Amino acid sequence: MGSSIQQATNDLMNSRYAIALSGAGISTESGIPDFRGPKGIWTTDREAEAKAYQRYELFLRDPKSYWEEMLGSKGTYGGFYDEVRKGKPNPGHYALAELEKLGVIKCVITQNIDGLHEKAGSKNVVEYHGGVHKLRCASCGTRFGFEEISLENLPPRCKCGGAIKYDVVHFKEPIPSDVVERAEEESLKCDLMLICGTSAVVYPFASLPRMAKLGGHRASIKVVEINAESTPLTYEGISDYLIQGKTGEILPEIVKGIKLIVNSR
Ligand code: NAD
Repeated sequence: MGSSIQQATNDLMNSRYAIALSGAGISTESGIPDFRGPKGIWTTDREAEAKAYQRYELFLRDPKSYWEEMLGSKGTYGGFYDEVRKGKPNPGHYALAELEKLGVIKCVITQNIDGLHEKAGSKNVVEYHGGVHKLRCASCGTRFGFEEISLENLPPRCKCGGAIKYDVVHFKEPIPSDVVERAEEESLKCDLMLICGTSAVVYPFASLPRMAKLGGHRASIKVVEINAESTPLTYEGISDYLIQGKTGEILPEIVKGIKLIVNSR
């Protein structure tokens, strides 16, 4: 076991309330590409990035066209959602679920829209950017399963009259207030934040580690990154240390180390 993995294992064991933050990097080993890694969707296709930035404005201006684009555009974002819905958890997701079962991790706040943490067995999950498995009324915020809503007449409408969209939070769309509240509460409560597979450049999600580390009297909080490369959190000294490598390899090592300690007591 590498020394930084050993250190993370000890830090987790000594924590009172550890939480995990995750990003697209934890799901690349499930075959779902990230956006900004070396092989990311946007690193290789700038047009897809430009389109994604306009999606929420399209929904506000013309929700019918939004739905037609989402349902009909194989190979663009609609195709990406279909691909994401079929994804299966990898050892990184299972390791976080295991850490929750062991009582070490109390909550996962994810930027991912793929639902793989829940599929792996994590229970207390905050989907900061929503999920592809749900729909949401843009007016009253009620969430629905796909099976509850007919897509015969577009856009689908909620009982309150509001237009329904994917639960996924598009660029320039506000994060739903219930999600912001839960994420901030968890970030301010934790004494260790384990950040897995995020470039930490998408705001306001990227402000959570800063809030945890710099908020008031909280200088003693530990912030640990597991990522394939350095991020602004590494350069700016927000993280105490970076374990560089794959989440699907490093997280199971940490679980192994924790089980060894627990079983030797
Ligand atoms: P990002 O693409 O900006 O960054 C991913 C980071 O993970 C990169 O630094 C990359 O080097 C690293 N990485 C890639 N594979 C890794 C691995 N196996 N182990 C460790 N690190 C690895 O992703 P982001 O920070 O999550 O931001 C992108 C936004 O796009 C998010 O808001 C998210 O909602 C969305 N997104 C979600 C999915 C998904 O649900 N799976 C996929 C793509 C994008």
